[in-house]
Amino acid sequence: MKTVRHSEQTLRTALISKNPALVSQYEKFDAAERRLMNEAFRPASDLFGPITLHSQSDWITSHPEPPQDFEEFFNDPSRKTPSREKHRIYIQCIGSLGNTRIISEEYVKWLKGYCEAFFYGLTVKLLEPVPVSATRCAFRVNDSTENLQIHAVGHILHFLKKKKPEDAFCIVGVTMIDLYPRDSWNFVFGQASLTDGVGIFSFARYGGDFYSSSYKGKVKASQRQSSRDYSVFDNYYTPEVTSVLLLRSCKTLTHEIGHIFGLRHCQWLACLMQGSNHLEEADRRPLDLCPICLRKLQCAIGFNIVERYQALVRWIDDESADTPRVTPKRSHDGNVNLPKPVEAFKEWKEWIIKCLAIVQK
Ligand SMILES: [Zn+2]
Ligand SMILES: [Zn+2]
Repeated sequence: MKTVRHSEQTLRTALISKNPALVSQYEKFDAAERRLMNEAFRPASDLFGPITLHSQSDWITSHPEPPQDFEEFFNDPSRKTPSREKHRIYIQCIGSLGNTRIISEEYVKWLKGYCEAFFYGLTVKLLEPVPVSATRCAFRVNDSTENLQIHAVGHILHFLKKKKPEDAFCIVGVTMIDLYPRDSWNFVFGQASLTDGVGIFSFARYGGDFYSSSYKGKVKASQRQSSRDYSVFDNYYTPEVTSVLLLRSCKTLTHEIGHIFGLRHCQWLACLMQGSNHLEEADRRPLDLCPICLRKLQCAIGFNIVERYQALVRWIDDESADTPRVTPKRSHDGNVNLPKPVEAFKEWKEWIIKCLAIVQK
């Protein structure tokens, strides 16, 4: 295992910058907020540690990219920021997320609530779910894994772009069907167009069984229909909704929406914005941002750092509510909402509480 460890000075500059205007902007944070963010370069910090590399196939080794410090983020002319007119994040569910309608509805509400806490200050809206056929996307059965896959570029991004409401900062499609970006690729976790503020992300590989030989999403050759017959998606297998699946989905969604805000892959500290090449590496990523990425997101949205951490804790604590600010309600057919499976978030709750302790000291 290798560790990517930067000097205190490098991290301080990445966070605060040497540009006098950005230094004075940093000084406008209150002392407690700075105390938390300064943990980025405190060598003994137990909140923000260095990135660890476990194999040659880890992202940083296999995808060399220039790092992005706060100043580069701030000065990026292509970066999009929410505005008074465009301040909402829309989530479009494509196909079922769970094997009943209720599970599917609850799942996407949990994602919405989580995104509202994470991107604190923005409103997240759910669009009416659509079946896969509505997107007119191309699809295939993967030759080696034998699962159904949707072509992640072309029709599906075009569909989302057309559905993007006027007041949208971005629209993201979520699906439990696996994705592929082009014929020669095996799969992709997601695809986004940053200029259009549009993305599509799949959680298919985050179920407990995707990589097992007994995976039930395999489509036998005899069941394969024509390339335009979407009935193959009817009642297609979805993984059991577990706490780990929810955790992985929340991490993916916030990482990917983070890119739409102009945050590039983090190479400073262990951070949600680290790139990941495979599931084990994605699981190693923390749930939340390092201070350098937190400052970028704060700069884009303008939230209060304490309030954001509090909203994240409220979402974890509130095991039934769909959003941190709304009381539990009954679903359409009168059933009480399913309990939100948050066990996998509990260790992160402890971490957020430690951050809060520093910022509220
Ligand atoms: Zn990424
Ligand atoms: Zn980061």
